[in-house]
Amino acid sequence: MKLKTIEKLCCPFDKQELQLQILAQDLEQNVMEGILSCVTCQRKYPIVYGVPIMAPDEYRQLSLEQPVIERWQLEYQIDPLKLLPE
Ligand SMILES: [Zn+2]
Repeated sequence: MKLKTIEKLCCPFDKQELQLQILAQDLEQNVMEGILSCVTCQRKYPIVYGVPIMAPDEYRQLSLEQPVIERWQLEYQIDPLKLLPE
């Protein structure tokens, strides 16, 4: 997904601003993998294969998101258990 498009996204839970951590980009600078974090509610939304996963809590399938988090957690110290706030 293009960086400019991602910058327009907001948290689906509280409509607040998201911080983007880019983990992988393709040659056209599209963000292929990354983590969007809500500064307000602390939810994290991974970008998987260029698509931000931004479903509401009850529709999220953390099993699909987990592999990406696990692949990057060592490098970026992402806690895989904290995709959703406690
Ligand atoms: Zn939020």
